[in-house]
Amino acid sequence: MRKPSLLMVCCALTLTLVGCTTSDQSKTEEAENKPADTEQQTETPADTPKDTEDEVVEEAPAPEAEPPAEDEPAEEPAADEPEAEETPVVEAPPVEESAQTPSQPLEQNGTANVKLDTLILVNKQIALPAGYKPTDLVTANIDFVDTASGERRMLRKEAAQAIEKLMAGAKAAGIDLKGTSAFRSYDYQVQLFNAYVAKDGKEQAMKYSAPPGHSEHQTGLAIDVSSASVGYQLTQSLEQTKEGKWLADNAHTYGFIVRYQRAYEAETGYMFEPWHLRYIGVEHATNVHKTNVPFERYLEQSMN
Ligand SMILES: [Zn+2]
Repeated sequence: MRKPSLLMVCCALTLTLVGCTTSDQSKTEEAENKPADTEQQTETPADTPKDTEDEVVEEAPAPEAEPPAEDEPAEEPAADEPEAEETPVVEAPPVEESAQTPSQPLEQNGTANVKLDTLILVNKQIALPAGYKPTDLVTANIDFVDTASGERRMLRKEAAQAIEKLMAGAKAAGIDLKGTSAFRSYDYQVQLFNAYVAKDGKEQAMKYSAPPGHSEHQTGLAIDVSSASVGYQLTQSLEQTKEGKWLADNAHTYGFIVRYQRAYEAETGYMFEPWHLRYIGVEHATNVHKTNVPFERYLEQSMN
C-alpha cells in the first residue's frame, strides 16, 4: 500500500487547487477527495470543485448543487477523535451470497454494520469502523489508468470478478472504459484529511473533504471508472458519452449501481457521480435500477 508523504500530498493538493489536471498519481488521488463539498456548506466559490470523494475534475455541477461528492462525505468527523491511528483493524465477515434482503440494522450509532457484507451501507452519516479493511481484497484484472496502482486496483473478490465481467462486456460492446480508483484505505483517507487540515485548518478542511471512514471505497466494493472520451477524468460529462450511457444502462446486470445519481443528490448529499460504481450483487442492483431509488432507501424498504 502506498502512503504518499505529506509533502507529496501537499504538492498535489496545491497543484489541484491551482487547477492543474495533469496527473501523477498522488495528485490524482487528492483531487478525489479534495472537491469542495457542497452539501451544506456552500460558500465555496463557483468554480470550486464540489466535494467528491473521487477525483473529480468536474466543472461546476448542477446549480442546486449542494451535494458533495460521494466518496468522501463532508460529514463532520468527530472533532476530537482522531480515530485514525489507534483503532484496531476490523475484519470483514465472510462473504455470503447477497441475494437476500438484510434483516439486520444498517448501522449502530453511526457505524456501519459490516455484517451486511456486500450490502454494507456507508454514507455521510454512517462511517465504517475505524481501521476497517476487507480481508478478501484482490487486484481486479482490468485496465486501469496509470495513476492507479497498488491497493487502488483492489476490490473484494466478488466485486473484482464482477468488474472484470463488466469490463469484458463493455469491450465486447465497443465501449472503452478503465478503472481509475478502487480500494481506498482508512490510513490513506487519514493522511489526506490530515494534510488538508494542516494546510487549511480543520474547519475549512471539513468543508471540502470527508473525514476518514466515510468513503465507500474503503468497503472494497466501489470503483471509479472513466473513458478516453473524457480523458479518463472523473467528470459529470461522462454522462453524455456513449460509455457513460452504457454504464447507466448496463452496470446493474453485472451487480453494480451508479450509486450517486443526479436525482438522489438531496437524499444522498452527494453530487451526481456517473463514474462511481458500487457493487451490491446482480439481484439487488437490478432491483435498484428498476425502482430507481437511492441505495439507502432501497435498503430501508427491503428490510420492512
Ligand atoms: Zn468513487
